[in-house]
Amino acid sequence: MVSFDPETLLGEATLADRDHETMSVEAPFTGEEFATLPLGDERDVAHAFERAREAQSDWEARDPAERAELLLEYHDLLFDHSEPLLDLVVEESGKARRHGFEELIDTAMASRHYAHRVESYLDDESRKSPMPGLVDVEVNYRAKGVVGVISPWNYPLTLAVSDAVAALLAGNTVVLKPAEQTAYTALAAVALLREAGVPEDVMQVVPGTGPDVGEPLVEESDYLCFTGSSKTGSFVASKAGEQLIDCSLELGGKNPAVVMSDADIDAAVNGLVRGAFTNAGQLCIAIERLYVHESVREEFTRKFVAATEALDVRPSDDWAVEMGSLLSQAQLDKVSSHVEDARDAGATVLTGGEPLPDVGPYAYAPTVLTDVSGEADLARQETFGPVVSIYGFEDTDEVIERANDSMYGLNASVWTADTERGRNIARRIDCGTANVNEAYAPSFIAHDAPMGGMKDSGVGRRHGEEGFYRFTEPQTLATQERGEID
Ligand code: NAD
Repeated sequence: MVSFDPETLLGEATLADRDHETMSVEAPFTGEEFATLPLGDERDVAHAFERAREAQSDWEARDPAERAELLLEYHDLLFDHSEPLLDLVVEESGKARRHGFEELIDTAMASRHYAHRVESYLDDESRKSPMPGLVDVEVNYRAKGVVGVISPWNYPLTLAVSDAVAALLAGNTVVLKPAEQTAYTALAAVALLREAGVPEDVMQVVPGTGPDVGEPLVEESDYLCFTGSSKTGSFVASKAGEQLIDCSLELGGKNPAVVMSDADIDAAVNGLVRGAFTNAGQLCIAIERLYVHESVREEFTRKFVAATEALDVRPSDDWAVEMGSLLSQAQLDKVSSHVEDARDAGATVLTGGEPLPDVGPYAYAPTVLTDVSGEADLARQETFGPVVSIYGFEDTDEVIERANDSMYGLNASVWTADTERGRNIARRIDCGTANVNEAYAPSFIAHDAPMGGMKDSGVGRRHGEEGFYRFTEPQTLATQERGEID
């Protein structure tokens, strides 16, 4: 059995045998230290890559079906250990247990999905283009080598390993730098991979900060898979460019929803409350801007505020809890300042707009505003908290223009009884994923579909074929069958 005790989990980290600086890891629901984390540096990164490079060719040489077997075992182990794993996720991130469970399902489903797909991806006849009698051409999908993964804290389980499992199945070894605030969840996820039979050197974790571990990791990687803020993403992409390595960047969003006059208002309210407040809004695809047709704006707003106020927000691991805490004081400061600045500039707070000390030192009330100035940070920057602004609109072209008036382009949602019209509107919104009569499609039901961002929301796609082949190096192999030419 895997132990989820932090001290035991530390044994899974790749850290050289010497003294390391440490940081305190807080439990967001109490603000108290629940563990300390040793912080690696470039020496630990170099050591991890040395081991990963050594292990890579044997790992790639294994039959893909054998790698798939291990990932299917991992799928099962995630469920076998779901209770202690979720205890850890909730303690370390302060999220509601149900949102931790969504992560667990997503991670397990990603493992199963790629395990079932890997053989057809690596031996895809449709991607070969033989020219009989002239030259026989085949395309081989070789592994990139050692893939570096840098992950954020908001979905500490799935974002640490769901991309990595595709990289592993493609024959790469992986070195992961998880967000330092939630590194123990990543270590637990990797402990289960080892329990499933994935060799130690094939998947390693180096805990530490962005500058001390993230930057050297970019320099060592053959491919970089980054999830985090647009600012850090832009920085690491420039570093990757200097190295001439490819990277995918899954970044932030300021995601719009459009509610048309014919929408089912109750369904829209229900879906969009979930879309705005899941994981306390600390979700890249969370809805932060709500555009509602003037003819239904009053009814929608009244019902949306009532549903927001009915949310079960508590510091408990009860499955019924619908929203937990923000991660940290830094998160609370950012969310509060967005709301206060908007309020100072004339916005009206319809509900919320204040911290919730009874829930935790960093908790913030689910908040709905209106009359928000288009120039406010709340209207333009990613808030990454439980805050949503409602705007009215009259005209379809106008609302599409306003939805697109953003540096981001990650997720969008359109609500209407006329689904064909909804799809036509959705197609015109600049975003990697658009949903009709849904706030966002959970990735665990759509691993076959690519997910990612346009504009400052990212480069490249996770999931789907695109999400798998990014971890491969296509090699065209042409053979002249001279003996057979007449
Ligand atoms: P962040 O950019 O601060 O940190 C992300 C990771 O990068 C962390 O592991 C961090 O330690 C590391 N890092 C920081 N500085 C670095 C540097 N100089 N070099 C290398 N690595 C460095 O982001 P965050 O606050 O942890 O996460 C929240 C952000 O992530 C939000 O913007 C959110 O929208 C985004 N996000 C995007 C997706 C997506 O799929 N598009 C998913 C989840 C989160």
